[in-house]
Amino acid sequence: MSASTGPWRNWAGNVTANPAERAAPATVAEVASVVTAAAERGRTVKCVGAGHSFTPAAATDGVLVSLDDLTGIESIVPTRAADGTVDGADVTVWAGTRLHRLGPLLWDLGLAQPNLGDFAEQSLAGAVSTGTHGTGAGFPGLPATVVGLQLVTADGSVLSCTRESHPEVFESARLGLGALGIITKMTVHCVPAFALRAEEQPWTLDAALADLEGFARSADHAEFFWFPHTGNINVKRNTRLPGDAVLAPVSRLRELVSDEFLSNEVYDVVCRAATRRPALTPRINRLTSRALSARTFTDRSYRVFASPRRVRFTEMEYAVPVGCAADVLTDLRAAIDRSGIVTPIPVEVRFSAADDVWLSTAYGRDVCYIAVHQYHAMDHREYFRFAEEIFLAADGRPHWGKMHTRTAADLAPALEHFDDVVAVRDRLDPDRVFANEYTDQVLP
Ligand SMILES: Cc1cc2nc3c(=O)[nH]c(=O)nc-3n(C[C@H](O)[C@H](O)[C@H](O)COP(=O)(O)OP(=O)(O)OC[C@H]3O[C@@H](n4cnc5c(N)ncnc54)[C@H](O)[C@@H]3O)c2cc1C
Repeated sequence: MSASTGPWRNWAGNVTANPAERAAPATVAEVASVVTAAAERGRTVKCVGAGHSFTPAAATDGVLVSLDDLTGIESIVPTRAADGTVDGADVTVWAGTRLHRLGPLLWDLGLAQPNLGDFAEQSLAGAVSTGTHGTGAGFPGLPATVVGLQLVTADGSVLSCTRESHPEVFESARLGLGALGIITKMTVHCVPAFALRAEEQPWTLDAALADLEGFARSADHAEFFWFPHTGNINVKRNTRLPGDAVLAPVSRLRELVSDEFLSNEVYDVVCRAATRRPALTPRINRLTSRALSARTFTDRSYRVFASPRRVRFTEMEYAVPVGCAADVLTDLRAAIDRSGIVTPIPVEVRFSAADDVWLSTAYGRDVCYIAVHQYHAMDHREYFRFAEEIFLAADGRPHWGKMHTRTAADLAPALEHFDDVVAVRDRLDPDRVFANEYTDQVLP
């Protein structure tokens, strides 16, 4: 453990903290001694992944632990379907591994994570611990693919858990907000490597809302970005192909122009213009949405799912029952038009299958994720306030890594297994070694 080298801030820059100490253990034994040493001195401990949560999930004034030196694949066990054929593998991965490093490692082994978010800088444990998801009406989020994990608890014990062994710890810790201990490794069910054919095209919001559930099922992984103050959306549909499909990736030049230049460099200039002259934002959004032309390409799954995001923004995202989503978007559109707020950043609309992860936003129901964003230099408060009101009226559940105002008192009645997770926490961490400002907000 070393004295802190100064303040810590998250990716978006909306959360800062002053850790008293920092530690970067490289073995499980070192993780355990960091935890016991901190607990003996009465300090709290928080493990940080890549610091990409918009909530203060990873912030601490105690000991900030990074697992950047605990990375890579530990072991692989092939798995078989009911008919005996190999259907993938359970891959044990050290918890600090970044998702963008895991994709190529798995590909070389003929494997892939079944689904991913739109960005891959996160650590595996950080992404899973907040319920990170991608899109796909038939595919749940990342925590549902976890089949085992190893946890260092508050007294320094090392606990391995699965559905069969310590099942209640497993169910709580596979989406545990870092509140139960430090996850040192996770076993993730992976599928045979696959390619994705991506089809992107401009569309209208009205067309998508006319049959939103049909849209969700129109491809394996369907989503759209809606540009507020306009009726324009940009649709993305990814279709799964075998891993040996002929790849036709975006050319390096097109990638530079489209993903790097238009999506990042020019986009930042556009957002700064909207910040200086908010009244221009509707016109800017019309132009931006038209600049994104249709394109089709085929590439390795992890390359298609995620893309770089260098324009900083703040974000709130709720999961609403898929059947309510069209009404929610209609209400959101009307509220934005009424409010006079402006935003140059699109609303992202994605879908997920129901899962059985205790604190999951998709626990027991198919959901539509609706994410509102604001450019980091623009005020998000009024926009997120009324958006959250609309999401809550539809029984929405907040993404644990994205901004929201829900407290333990609000969440307890809304989440079937909330009290079960609290009971596991009371048992494993009675002195709240792993508490921070965020767990104080969302857990009792
Ligand atoms: C640009 C951008 C794009 C994003 N895209 C998506 C997306 O497509 N889909 C989506 O669902 N979300 C998305 N997110 C949200 C993001 O995936 C989550 O907030 C995720 O938690 C960030 O991972 P991280 O490694 O940065 O974790 P951090 O933010 O560092 O930590 C998150 C939580 O995990 C805990 N934690 C981290 N490591 C461990 C460990 N080893 N043991 C126990 N607890 C641990 C921390 O204590 C904290 O509570 C995005 C965020 C950004 C900034």
